[in-house]
Amino acid sequence: SAKEKGKNTFEFFSPELSGNLARRVMIENELQKGIEFEEFHLHYQPQLDLKTNRMTGLEALIRWENPRLGRVSPAEFIPVAEETGIIRRLGEWVIDRAASDMRKLMEHGHHELSVAVNISIKQFYHDSLPGFIMEVLAKHQVPASRFKIEITESVVIGHFDLVLEQLHSLKKEGIQIALDDFGTGYSSLNYLKILPIDIVKIDRSFIQDILSNPEDAAIVQAVIQIAESSSLTVIAEGVETDEQTDFLRVIGCHQGQGYTFSRPKPIEALLTELEEQYTKG
Ligand code: C2E
Ligand code: MG
Ligand code: MG
Ligand code: MG
Repeated sequence: SAKEKGKNTFEFFSPELSGNLARRVMIENELQKGIEFEEFHLHYQPQLDLKTNRMTGLEALIRWENPRLGRVSPAEFIPVAEETGIIRRLGEWVIDRAASDMRKLMEHGHHELSVAVNISIKQFYHDSLPGFIMEVLAKHQVPASRFKIEITESVVIGHFDLVLEQLHSLKKEGIQIALDDFGTGYSSLNYLKILPIDIVKIDRSFIQDILSNPEDAAIVQAVIQIAESSSLTVIAEGVETDEQTDFLRVIGCHQGQGYTFSRPKPIEALLTELEEQYTKG
């Protein structure tokens, strides 16, 4: 009805919404220039083997510091980059920088550490992602076996064949594939079976109350069992306390990632820390 229409129109022009729209437009404009003005950096967050407490790898997480917007969270700008298509160039920048940082790690003697990069659905749209990744790895002379990608289930929805084919070529090259935010999607268990994945990352929302919520604990235990029977590695995301770590270790979770081990940091800070650990013995 006209009344409802009027109401909707009113809501659309509410100050809050137009404020959001203005910010979105601004983010979109600033994103375009961000790459050439070198406003992006990568931070790295360690992933630890819960049996040995040793670092096995690092996840690359993008950071954006813009002169007008200040620090903007990837949770806010990645969706805008995806909707506008900017993610393609930004995603290529991330892959290139991660590979060059991997080279740095190797030059400091850390040949065993893997580096994982988050990949959005739009990066699969042109069929050229596996070729691009292999070119970049060759350019920086880093092994594919230490490079990982993290995808979410949303990556395959609606573009199944296109994505699946590229995942298979990446896997053939030795690149490992992690299913990120596991448990938050629609048909998670099914995807475990049909995608060529090596790693399952259990979403933080199942970890945060794992000690007080028996349902969450049961879900995490079930995922570990299923993963074990399919030879997948399980990483718990967002581990914030020693108690959560102990519990995860007891139920057989392979790896952990979260603030209790380390916040995401620039590569230089991590290299310094690794150096200090080494000299301490
Ligand atoms: P994600 O891939 O699931 O990354 C994990 C997020 O959890 C990161 O947020 C990380 O900083 C945060 N985190 C890690 N440990 C803890 C913890 O113990 N507690 C809490 N509360 N949070 C923790 P961040 O860096 O803000 O990134 C958010 C999301 O943005 C990522 O979620 C990923 O989906 C996306 N993203 C980040 N970098 C990239 C990128 O280079 N490319 C693409 N396509 N997406 C990215
Ligand atoms: Mg991730
Ligand atoms: Mg995640
Ligand atoms: Mg996420």
